[in-house]
Amino acid sequence: MIRRIEILEAGHTHQLEYFANPVSGKFETVRFPTTVALIEHAARGLILFDTGVTPRLRHLLKRFPEHLFSNLFSIRIDYETTAVHQLKNLGIRPDEIRHIVLSHFHSDHIAGVNDFPTARFFFSPEEYRSMCGLSRFARLRHAFVPELLPPDFVQRRSEPGAETDLPQLGPGFSGRDLFGDGSLFLVPLPGHSLGHQGLFVPDYLGKPWFFVGDAAHLSSSIRDGTSPVSLGAKLIFHDTEQYNETLSRLRGVPETVCLLPCHCNEAFQRAKTQLVSP
Ligand SMILES: [Zn+2]
Repeated sequence: MIRRIEILEAGHTHQLEYFANPVSGKFETVRFPTTVALIEHAARGLILFDTGVTPRLRHLLKRFPEHLFSNLFSIRIDYETTAVHQLKNLGIRPDEIRHIVLSHFHSDHIAGVNDFPTARFFFSPEEYRSMCGLSRFARLRHAFVPELLPPDFVQRRSEPGAETDLPQLGPGFSGRDLFGDGSLFLVPLPGHSLGHQGLFVPDYLGKPWFFVGDAAHLSSSIRDGTSPVSLGAKLIFHDTEQYNETLSRLRGVPETVCLLPCHCNEAFQRAKTQLVSP
C-alpha cells in the first residue's frame, strides 16, 4: 500500500550536541537537519510529513519582534534546499502533493506549506486554535508565524479516520487511521507542543517506520531518556512533564521499529541507506 518513502533535508542548523542531549551529547557543533518525509500511497498519491524551511521564513523573521526568534535559531535557508525544489528534481510537481501531515505548528515544520497549493492538510485543530489565540509575542515563544499558512488553510483540512490501539508500538500508543486502510496512523506525541503528533507507517519494505517529529530531538535522547537543555528548546516547549512522559513511551517502542526524530542527523543518515525505493 505504501509504495515509496524518501527523506529530504529541507534546511539545517548547527548547535552543540550537548544542548540537545546532556547525557551522551558532546561539546561539539553538530548538524541538525530539518527533515521532510515523502510518502507515496498506492491509492491516495503523494503525501508529505512536515514541510521544512524556506526563504519565506527568513523574510518574515526580519520583522520585529520575530527577528528575536531568528537570532535564537540560525537556520540555513536556501531555495535549493527547500522541499519543493528537491521534489522538482525528483520529477514531482507541487500539485502532485495531495496531502500534508503537520506534526505541529513550529515555523521550521510549516514554512513550506504555501509551496503546495492543492494539498489537503492533516493537523491538530486544537493546537491550531491555541496558536491563533496567542498574542504576537506569545506566538514568538511558540515559534508560530501564521503568515506561513495560506488563507484557506482550515478549509483544506482533512479528517483522519477512527482511533485504534497500536500494540506494534508498545503499551500506551494509539493513533487515528489516516485513510481508514491501516497504512498510516496519526499518533499523538504531546509535550513539545500541545497537539504534537507523529506518523506511523506499519509496513514499508517489510519494516515499521515511525516519524516522531520533535517528540525527541535526537535518537540518543530516546535511548538516554534525556530532554534538551538549550534555552531555545526550553522556551518553546508546551509542557516539559508531558514531553518527558512521551519520551519515556518512545523508549518502550520495540527496536524493530525505525524511529525518525525530525532533527536527528544520525537517524536521517541511517534512514537514507535503508529507504531504497523498489
Ligand atoms: Zn518543534
